[in-house]
Amino acid sequence: MTHQQAGHLLTGGRVVTPDGVLTPGWIQTEGTQIAAVARGDRQGQAGNTTDVHGRWILPGFVDMHVHGGGGTSFTEGTAEDARAAAAFHLAHGTTSIVASLVTAPLGELQERAAMLAPLAADGALVGLHLEGPFLSRARCGAQDPRHMLLPDVAAFECLRAAAAGHLRVITIAPELPGARDLITAAASAGVTVAVGHTDATAEVTAAAVDAGATHATHLFNGMRPVHHREPGPVGALLDSEEVSCEVIADGVHLHDTIIRLTAHIAGPGRLVLVTDAMSAAGLRDGRYRLGSRQVSVSGGVARLIDDDGRPGAIAGSTATMAGVVRRAAAAGLPVPDVADAASTTPARVLGLADRLGALRPGLAANLVVCDDDLAVRAVMRRGRWLPSAQ
Ligand SMILES: [Zn+2]
Repeated sequence: MTHQQAGHLLTGGRVVTPDGVLTPGWIQTEGTQIAAVARGDRQGQAGNTTDVHGRWILPGFVDMHVHGGGGTSFTEGTAEDARAAAAFHLAHGTTSIVASLVTAPLGELQERAAMLAPLAADGALVGLHLEGPFLSRARCGAQDPRHMLLPDVAAFECLRAAAAGHLRVITIAPELPGARDLITAAASAGVTVAVGHTDATAEVTAAAVDAGATHATHLFNGMRPVHHREPGPVGALLDSEEVSCEVIADGVHLHDTIIRLTAHIAGPGRLVLVTDAMSAAGLRDGRYRLGSRQVSVSGGVARLIDDDGRPGAIAGSTATMAGVVRRAAAAGLPVPDVADAASTTPARVLGLADRLGALRPGLAANLVVCDDDLAVRAVMRRGRWLPSAQ
């Protein structure tokens, strides 16, 4: 135990910190935390020193919207399946993961939340996200509209109680009757309120932001599109400086131009990269499930299978955070902005900025070592290298 908790020195890399890139820079960890970060090269003791010349050192990725990966998911199966999904994404650089649940019957959602809460308590997850059931049937995407409900504070409180203090985000369609009360209740309980799967107008969306909504669930996807006379949720959310905006930068859900435009409009500190991955992430093409729905993955694109067996709406992604990070950089975002959107901003949105999300002394020693092409070469979580690396 003490050996595993010994400090590590990484030296000579391009260290991406909130105050800029240190080239070269070094990081000293101590136990589970970062003890020091500084510019320059530093000599350390053999055994505990890793030469990272020519490598990027990024903060460990924080994925706040993800349903599964590597063949298992948070939306079905056992607690061990959920741990396996988290471990799959950890190997791709996601050192902090939120389990996102899709719309399901209320009792089922309560059971899932109760099953996942202990995983959040022991650190396998950093919390839960309810992507449903208070969503718009008109913008259900791959979710099951049969189980969508009108906003109901009592139902929300049951779900929140089941999550035992680990519910961090809830996605709501603000145009539904009762949404305002639910937004107020969730925000005052310290749960981040996200607008998503919505057919709201810009005005209704802006009112939701006034009521306490602070986040956009996969901006553009699952919401009324932008029109120049009715900018809809996209316009209102981008136009609100206090709102952080998720984008699924997998090359499937959004054109790269939209990624760049969103980054420009939102500016650093508001953009959040997410995978929205489902169980098929990292696996071959084939048939999978997302909650109660059947999904077909072809060419890495997951689509619902409709009643006639034909592929329909895009159903989550097969992406990893490493993949969306590479894609966002290839789309033209500077690496420090990518690191911000992949780690620092989601950590803040989740209320975890005092614990993780940046390469800064006192925060968790969660980091990703990447090569020039931003391919993940090694992952450290809480001061320990992942066994497959190093
Ligand atoms: Zn989702």
